[in-house]
Amino acid sequence: MKRITVLDTTMRDGEQAPGCSMKPEDKLRIAAQLERLRVDYIEAGFPVASPDDFEAVKAIAKQTKQSGVAAMCRATTGDISCAWEAIRHAERPRLHIVLSASDIHLEHKLKISREQLLEQAVWAVRFARKHCSDIQYSPEDCTRADRGFLMQVLHAVVKEGVTTINLTDTVGYLMPQETVEFVRFVRDSLKDGDVRLSMHCHNDLGVAVANTLCAVKAGADQVECTIGGIGERAGNAALEEVVMALRTRSEYFGCETGVQTKELYHANKLLFNVIDAEIPANKAIVGANAFAHEAGIHQHGVLSNPLTYEIMRPEDVGRHQNLVLGKHSGKAALGQRLEELGYQLDKVALHKIGEAFKVLADRKKSITDRDIEELVADQYSHEQTFALESFVVNSGTLLTATAMVKLRRGGKCYEMVEKGESAVIAAFKAVDRIVRKSYPLHHFTIQSVSEGRTALSEIVVQVLNGGKIVVGRGLDTDIVTASIKAYLAAINKILLTTSRQ
Ligand code: MN
Repeated sequence: MKRITVLDTTMRDGEQAPGCSMKPEDKLRIAAQLERLRVDYIEAGFPVASPDDFEAVKAIAKQTKQSGVAAMCRATTGDISCAWEAIRHAERPRLHIVLSASDIHLEHKLKISREQLLEQAVWAVRFARKHCSDIQYSPEDCTRADRGFLMQVLHAVVKEGVTTINLTDTVGYLMPQETVEFVRFVRDSLKDGDVRLSMHCHNDLGVAVANTLCAVKAGADQVECTIGGIGERAGNAALEEVVMALRTRSEYFGCETGVQTKELYHANKLLFNVIDAEIPANKAIVGANAFAHEAGIHQHGVLSNPLTYEIMRPEDVGRHQNLVLGKHSGKAALGQRLEELGYQLDKVALHKIGEAFKVLADRKKSITDRDIEELVADQYSHEQTFALESFVVNSGTLLTATAMVKLRRGGKCYEMVEKGESAVIAAFKAVDRIVRKSYPLHHFTIQSVSEGRTALSEIVVQVLNGGKIVVGRGLDTDIVTASIKAYLAAINKILLTTSRQ
């Protein structure tokens, strides 16, 4: 069977999506999980974009042993040198040069002629090759480019030593059948070289995964994907969907990947925790409903043989029966469950989560996997600048809501009282007075993350900071507590990023 290379670009294209920015320490955790997932390449970022990006890519390059590490750069000396500096210590570094190919980009974005572009492409690859033998070249927006010109560029860069050509449907324009035809055209035109062909699809018309699979069917050697399909605008092809399609229908594709599918679910959980978002319930492979059978006739069939209504087993993607832990479950049971959920935690973290588990178990009868995942997520967001010490709210139909909030920072406590239209708003205003700045509330959502009256509530707030949306999440059995935690999480993110600059 043909082996398909999987390049994950969650931390590059994925991070470019609105509200998906990741802290450097979170990127390291994601990179470690991608390695457990055994992706062939981790595209770790765009080093020239910011000092934080550079440091994150560099740290990932040093940490990663099994997977190759790619960094994106434009076709300039500055970009290429910077990207190389960031990945040079990787076991398998790859420079990824991106340069537009369509006339519309040439004319309106780069403002150069076709001849100038050709010259720049050749020059950039030649320069990059001085540093690195593994060069990926992406003709940006090439699905809308003139084919004659595109092939002129591709022949030229392959001659300079490009090892992978990544066909980029930047705007998500192609339809599946066209993708087959396009990849075959490029494949046939390049038949003399041994360059590998890759496909990078966007989901603007909802066919990114379909297009990626069509590219494989038409002979592509590599797929570019992101966990959960996050990415610019409507996102990229979802890695878990592409991988599971190739695996479930291997007789149709005649291909396989090296991905350890049992890590797919955990990779999604980790990513969505980091970006403070929810996996949509109907999301293929990893959504809450992906393996849930509601109809009685289906349930009956699945109980006698899962294959009646399931083409994959939940275990194959790392999902477990939701067995319930409670107050009387010991540390060993918790430790084992954490391991089953794919967490590899050190003793200190394990102890802290154990303590938090006990507190929660006193308030809540049964603790589900979902609760445990939230406890872990909570543990990792503890390097907060401000922490909630205590609060009191007064609200009702006969009085103006008031809140007294006490926050701790370092060893010091700060206390303020405010009034507002509701208990939550009054509490937020009190927080504003303590941090001496007010952040407009853009969005506020509340959801119960587990079942029953004692369920944990998750509050997600989006606040505006200089026009940018910053997301914070708070978790508690009490809604006001969860709201204040969420608001503080967003403010802390802002404080952490501003102090870093
Ligand atoms: Mn893209």
